Amino acid sequence: LTSPPIETWDSEDSESKQLPIYQHRNKLTQAVKNSPFLVVTGETGSGKTTQLPQYLHRAGFCKYGKIAITQPRRVAAITVAQRVAQEMRCPLGREVGYQVRFDDCTSQDTVVKYMTDGCLLREVLADPGLSQYSVVILDEIHERSLNTDILLGLLKKIFSNPAKATKGRAFPLKVVVMSATLESDKLSSFLGDCPVFAIPGRTFPVTCTFGSAIGPKDIESTAYVKEVVKMAFDVHTSEVAGDILVFLTGQSEIERACDLLFEKAETVDYRFDVQDPTVEGLLILPLYGSMPTDQQRQIFQPPPPGIRKCVVATNIAATSLTINGIKYIIDSGFVKQLNHNSRVGMDILEVVPISKSEAQQRAGRAGRISAGKCFRIYTKEFWEKSMPEYTIPEIQRTSLTAVVLTLKCLGVNDVISFPYLDRPEERFILEALKQLYQFDAIDRRGRVTQLGELMVEFPLHPGLTRSLLKAASLGCQDLLLPVAAMLSVENIFIRPGRPEKQKEADKKHRGLATRVGSMNDFATLLSIFQSCKSSDRPSAWCKENWIHWRALKSAFSVETQLREILLRLQQRNFPVETFDGNKSELLRQCLCTGYFTNVARRSMGKVFCTMDGHGSMVHIHPSSSLFDQEAELNWVIFHDVLVTSRVYIRTVCPIRYEWVKDLLPKLHEVDVYELSSVAREEVTDKEMKKWETREARFLLRMSQKKLE
Ligand code: ADP
Ligand code: MG
Repeated sequence: LTSPPIETWDSEDSESKQLPIYQHRNKLTQAVKNSPFLVVTGETGSGKTTQLPQYLHRAGFCKYGKIAITQPRRVAAITVAQRVAQEMRCPLGREVGYQVRFDDCTSQDTVVKYMTDGCLLREVLADPGLSQYSVVILDEIHERSLNTDILLGLLKKIFSNPAKATKGRAFPLKVVVMSATLESDKLSSFLGDCPVFAIPGRTFPVTCTFGSAIGPKDIESTAYVKEVVKMAFDVHTSEVAGDILVFLTGQSEIERACDLLFEKAETVDYRFDVQDPTVEGLLILPLYGSMPTDQQRQIFQPPPPGIRKCVVATNIAATSLTINGIKYIIDSGFVKQLNHNSRVGMDILEVVPISKSEAQQRAGRAGRISAGKCFRIYTKEFWEKSMPEYTIPEIQRTSLTAVVLTLKCLGVNDVISFPYLDRPEERFILEALKQLYQFDAIDRRGRVTQLGELMVEFPLHPGLTRSLLKAASLGCQDLLLPVAAMLSVENIFIRPGRPEKQKEADKKHRGLATRVGSMNDFATLLSIFQSCKSSDRPSAWCKENWIHWRALKSAFSVETQLREILLRLQQRNFPVETFDGNKSELLRQCLCTGYFTNVARRSMGKVFCTMDGHGSMVHIHPSSSLFDQEAELNWVIFHDVLVTSRVYIRTVCPIRYEWVKDLLPKLHEVDVYELSSVAREEVTDKEMKKWETREARFLLRMSQKKLE
């Protein structure tokens, strides 16, 4: 094997030469070359994400294949790729590109490819040897996203065997794992005691203060939005120059905070001497995931002289993106997180207190250029009583259904003994297996079915995929493709802040719903998609109807991509079925095939009871067209739930009991605790061990129970 030559360094711009990583570039490329696995750690902002791929590129690694860099967040993948393309002076999508779900900005020339961890996982599925790549960099390992954790286990499994790592390659694949925290020992020992490269950081002290307004009781309210605004303004009027970074949890909150800040900033010039540079102006910039990328670019630009920048961001600014010039942090103490909610038995995006380690990370963002200050708006009591020490890895708190199916399709049959960096509780794995069994994606021995092989091809929630495949087998994919696309993009309905505008929007949205005939939120989505698509002036149509044109444009693109996947699969052995029911019920019946896990029955008044074994009491969300129509309903299915003081179901449609009658018993066959005890039994029979793992045996038990 020839090793890639280390070339001389020339054209870096001076800014990137200032980064801590720069002095170590030669040693780093050498370290990557010398070992199949390498752990790289370094403070956030030291240049790992933007610089290392460029060093490897210049060192000639791309002669042997592309360089992949994974990110848990799609915005991070896009923004960083933009930056690196700019640094390498090439148009985005050429040498440097990105790929995120439903958005591929790469070409044949792309050699440095930023991508989400989910996208790389899909590529492993198609090509487990990752033959296109010379280096795979798993970035932001400390975030502990589900897909990154799975990739880590997979790459360990596939490439720690030297024979496999070099099979069919001129140059063995190099795997680099990058992390901002010092979990390097754990990572290194997980990867067979591989070398660790620690980039020495330089940080300045950050003084942290606690507030008095937000205590443990304020978790349910959003009083913290007002509080951070007040604090940001206090900082602006009383602290010396330096930019502010505010941490909130999501788009609507961030927009609200920005509005409040604008209002305050408008009055400031009257109250203070405009010559005073610390109060002259505040440049307020939001930063969240679904923001248009051209707006995001502004975040990184230095403010005009004498103006203070105030970025109001989600957790994305904690580690994934580094904004230069930040001296003050205002920490709300909350984050939006996907958690498995045992009360309703589903994954729910919820606002929770951050961990202490997360709070330290946030504070650290103020100490990059000089000593900084971090204002925590919550009390010391909140810190002590409500904040956990560390953030629990996603793998231990969310549904594993999709990744277990992926592993199964990769031939990882015993998913319980897969090498996990941190093991999920066995019952979560069993829950995933049970779900896959319910969807007919695996058989009673835990092996992937033909349907499972088809399902894994779609980057969608398994239930939605199941419905789509049902529709396709009936030849009515045109009903489901748009619905699947609409449910995969950000919220399409505009919710104006001002009450009178809100009334106008509500009226329009209700009009769109009644157009469908029967009340059915899924059908409304389909109708909006079709009406907008067939309109001569689609953007005007959206404006008129208070619909987000940007979201609809994404939905059109997603629909095309899903259709392409489907067409490709239909070349294969694809199931064909016939439908002899009422045509007007086709959409709802297809939906039932995938959503039978989300069925609720009205118990009394406006209260519904879920049929998934949890028997949760739920209400129809006011945004649904079925809200206030409850009296006419009996059985419904729903897309997701929102938990506040009540549990709300959203995107709802009425169904008939007959459509789910044969599917519902599948939900009750066996309970996870029982499965878990079966799975813990020791396997003694050698023959049994060969083809029937522990998990296969309980699936067998499960199906036997069904026959009883
Ligand atoms: P790390 O991965 O070690 O946290 P990065 O490579 O993300 O560090 O960041 C290195 C530097 O690049 C930081 O100073 C950051 O501000 C800068 N940077 C990153 N992305 C952009 C961008 N889109 N625009 C301007 N500067 C950027
Ligand atoms: Mg980084």
